[in-house]
Parts: sequence; C-alpha cells; structure tokens
Amino acid sequence: MKINFEKEFKNQNVDVNSLRPNQSYDFLIKNRNGSLSSLIKDKNKLKKFLKPRSCPTCGSSSSKKLVYKDNLNIVRCKKCTMVYTSPIFDHKKYLEIYDSKEYIQIVKRIGEDSHLYRKKRFGSERYKILNKFIKKKSPRILELGCSTGFFLEYANEKGWKTSGLELNSSAVNFAVKRGLDVINKDFLKYKFKKKYDAFLAFDVIEHLVDPKKILKKAYDILNKNGLIFVYVPNWNSASRLMIGEKDSHFIWPTHHLNYYTPETLQIFFKKCNFELLYWETKGLDMIDYKWLLDSRKKSSKFLDKHLEEIQFFINSSGHGKNLRMIAKKI
Ligand SMILES: [Zn+2]
Repeated sequence: MKINFEKEFKNQNVDVNSLRPNQSYDFLIKNRNGSLSSLIKDKNKLKKFLKPRSCPTCGSSSSKKLVYKDNLNIVRCKKCTMVYTSPIFDHKKYLEIYDSKEYIQIVKRIGEDSHLYRKKRFGSERYKILNKFIKKKSPRILELGCSTGFFLEYANEKGWKTSGLELNSSAVNFAVKRGLDVINKDFLKYKFKKKYDAFLAFDVIEHLVDPKKILKKAYDILNKNGLIFVYVPNWNSASRLMIGEKDSHFIWPTHHLNYYTPETLQIFFKKCNFELLYWETKGLDMIDYKWLLDSRKKSSKFLDKHLEEIQFFINSSGHGKNLRMIAKKI
C-alpha cells in the first residue's frame, strides 16, 4: 500500500520565513508575557490579582493540577476533562494586555509584516474550507479577533460581506487603512444591527475568560443554520508531547486560558447548541520540534529527511497542533 502524503503536503506547504519574518518568532517567545512579565515574577503580588475559576465548559469547580508554568496553574476538569488555566486575572486586565504596547509590538512584528503572505496562504485555505459548508453566494460573515484582517480581505475579494472585531488598536488601524470593515469594540457589549451566516474565531477562543458567553452571543447573532468556524491550539498535539509543556509556546497561561482537544471542543460546542460538521488537525509540530533541536544543537538528519511524512501521520491521527472545527447552529 502506498500512502500519498506528498499530495497532502503540496497543499500544506508553509513558508516559515514568510510566516515568521525578521526573527519575529524568537521575539514572540522572548517577549511572550509582555506587559505581565514583572508581575508574574512576584508570586505574592501576583496572588492579589488572581481569581479562582470554574470549568469554562461545564462549570464544575472540581479539577486536578496538570502544569505549573510562569507561576500559573493549568488544570483538568474532573467532570468533563476540559483543560484550562486557573486561577486567572479579571476580564479588564486581559483587555489591557491585548492593547498594551508590548502586545502591539508582537502583533506588528508577526502579523503586519506577514499580512500579505497570511492572506495568500491562510486566507485562501480558510476560505476554501468554509466555502464547502456555506450555501449562499455572498454570505455575511463576522470574524472575532481578526488581527490585521488577512482572512477578511481574501473573502472580501471573493464577494463575501465581511466584518471584524479586534482589540489591538494597531491591527485595527492597519486593517482599516486596507479598506476593511474592522472595529475596535468589545464583542459582548457591542449591539449588532445585522445577522450573520458565519461567525469565525481563529486562534481566539483559547484566550477567552468566558468562552461560553461569547458562543451564546454568536448563537444569537447568527441566521438560522448559521455556522461557526474556529481554530484553536490542540492540547493533544504532538508538539506538547515531544517538546514538553515548558518549551511548547502554545502552553502560555498568561494569555491562553482554555486548552481544547478534538473531544472537548466538540463537547463545548454541543453545550452551546452547535452541531459538529467538520474537524481536522494540521500543524507545524515537526518544524517547531526541529527549531527546538536546532537551538540545542541537537539536529537530527533522520528527522530532517522525514519531517513531512511524520507530520502527515501526526495530522491524520488528530495530533496536529492546530485544531479546526466547523459547527452548525441548531
Ligand atoms: Zn468541566
């Protein structure tokens, strides 16, 4: 039997230098805690800012500690197996973090400089995936946390009616200058005048203090049979298993508050009255693993040679770092 991973990889090809230009990835890793860096070093001061949190999916407060990183805890719910950060800061503090000059700098370096590459590579890919499930010719879509709007710009050019919300003012200015309908507003407070055919959130849900509240509002502003399309990091990723929690950059408790698996994301959607239509995992697990080995001067010729084949099997088995899911309002 021949496994045709090459065909798959032609579609998945990612140019890491375009995606992470000018050492922006090293910059992100180094500055990942941004405006919180000094606060999280001081355990006693930190305690005053933190509040205990119950499971963001089922509400249970019974949990088991899994990981301790940056002086914060990541726990697993004993009832529904959801993995999440607890205790955490309050909502206001997170709004400050995402509009801080440190975070703006991260997004500028990694987002604005690679906008055109992201539009072409990821905008087109996301459009193709969603287009299979969209029935209308020019659907009205809303993207939460749209960053520089690279997906919206691509979909716009294909005739979709697009709008976006983003908390990072620099990214909003960038998107508006490119003619996109992107506003800097709090989604939960904003009064929408229209209904949408799809609600999108790429790499957003993992940051939310109360993801259920967001999904409930998304439900309300969607048309009948409206879709949600999300990307989240996969807790069950090969990256975490190979690289370990300490060096896996997606294990980032100051910013990532919710860690889904294919199973727990589906449970979460069901609880919010959405029915699963599609899921898959894809990732740069092996590239990130190679990056770690190279930085430790432990490169492996065998891994370099078979990197793409190994990643293919990782993706196929549901262990790719990036988990994608589409679900329908019921
Ligand atoms: Zn739970």
